[in-house]
Amino acid sequence: MKKIIVDEEYCKGCHLCISQCKKAVLAVSCIRNARGYLVPQANEPENCTGCLQCEMICPDMAIAVEDSADEK
Ligand code: SF4
Ligand code: SF4
Repeated sequence: MKKIIVDEEYCKGCHLCISQCKKAVLAVSCIRNARGYLVPQANEPENCTGCLQCEMICPDMAIAVEDSADEK
């Protein structure tokens, strides 16, 4: 399973990553960062294919997809 990491400090809550994910892995969370933006979270990480589209579209490089420990 992939691990999706959101850097809450840099996220500006644009949610482009959520719309870009064809597998509906990501969703808006109820977590607000220090700047008041609702950050995304991985609701269904088991569906992540590791396509990295979310990483590539993020204007602030605030989201990263990694292999989880059991996949290495
Ligand atoms: S695309 Fe980047 S800045 Fe926008 S919500 Fe996703 S992680 Fe945050
Ligand atoms: S790597 Fe691809 S499948 Fe996984 S969360 Fe990002 S856009 Fe969705």
